Amino acid sequence: MFEEVKKKLGFGCMRLPMRGDEVDYEQFNKMTDDFINAGFNYFDTAHGYIQGKSETAIRDCLVKRYPRESYILTNKLTGDYFQTEEEVRPFFEKQLEICGVDYFDFYLMHTQTKNLFAKFKRCRAYEQALEFKKEGKIKHLGISFHDTAEVLEQILTEYPQIETVQIQLNYVDYEDPAVQSRKCLEVCNKFNKPIIVMEPVKGGNLVNLPEGAKGYFEELGGMSSASYAIRFAAGCEGVFMVLSGMSDTAQMQDNLSYMKDFKPLNEKEMQAVVKVCAAFKGMNIIQCTACRYCTDGCPKKISIPDLFACSNAKNIYHDWNADYYKDIYSESGGKASDCISCGKCEKSCPQHLPIRELLKKVAEEFEN
Ligand code: SF4
Ligand code: SF4
Repeated sequence: MFEEVKKKLGFGCMRLPMRGDEVDYEQFNKMTDDFINAGFNYFDTAHGYIQGKSETAIRDCLVKRYPRESYILTNKLTGDYFQTEEEVRPFFEKQLEICGVDYFDFYLMHTQTKNLFAKFKRCRAYEQALEFKKEGKIKHLGISFHDTAEVLEQILTEYPQIETVQIQLNYVDYEDPAVQSRKCLEVCNKFNKPIIVMEPVKGGNLVNLPEGAKGYFEELGGMSSASYAIRFAAGCEGVFMVLSGMSDTAQMQDNLSYMKDFKPLNEKEMQAVVKVCAAFKGMNIIQCTACRYCTDGCPKKISIPDLFACSNAKNIYHDWNADYYKDIYSESGGKASDCISCGKCEKSCPQHLPIRELLKKVAEEFEN
């Protein structure tokens, strides 16, 4: 494992505290201080997070305020930002400059799928990242991964220099046939690659559990639903890091309380997880993690994850109103029935959701 990483919880900077359209620096400064003072040191970002504002907020609230050796900073090479081999290095150098650092501790080839891997190979992205490593501009090369275990095996075979793999893992997706968390975990362990976990609370879906599921955790007494999801992921074999996208101080305090001295779930807690998982699966919910990778390319500007959240709220909590749905589409410009079925969104969905079909159902639910 990596000795410089102090604890198993990482600060995922994809969903930072916001004030309107801007990152709330006052709160982010405080959260950064609390995180570091509690003995944690791992921060994760990518150029596209919060339209570039995640990288600049990290520069202002972390990099400018703490000595470089006191934190671990992970960034990613995202396929959207280069089309040719020549564009990779300038983009990487720009990321270093924006973040105000001389090196990244971990640099991940972002969202690797079969198709994106082909593009990364065509542009010699892996070879170039290995050059950055030789130059001391990255410490460790890794990938973040969103495809089948078979594709993961292929990538790790072709590039044995990969040191770590970031996978989606949570108790609901563990056996999911599309996400294949367990199988991907097994491949990482087979290749001896330490694992970073993303989406441990499934984009927030495992934080506020519906009636019929949360009771199992409440019976255990006192701890938040998120705590069981994060400890489940952190306890899986080979996992050295669990990322949590913390967007306010309360979430952070909750996370720190049980990850400061991490203990894996005990047998009784694991049994409760199995029951919650079964209850959760019996509900008709859309497995969207609100990553928003699908929204940029939509020609009708449909706010896909927000419409899915509306549908989930209606199906799980029976808590919805048509005005809320209307607010979402009025603000963004597209309602579910505006979808022209071009399919662009589905190509970028890491959960492999049939977005077009799901939008038809959302339109039926809300627009009749
Ligand atoms: S299929 Fe529909 S929702 Fe998806 S990008 Fe095209 S118009 Fe937008
Ligand atoms: S539909 Fe897919 S790509 Fe879009 S936000 Fe949800 S999980 Fe992400």
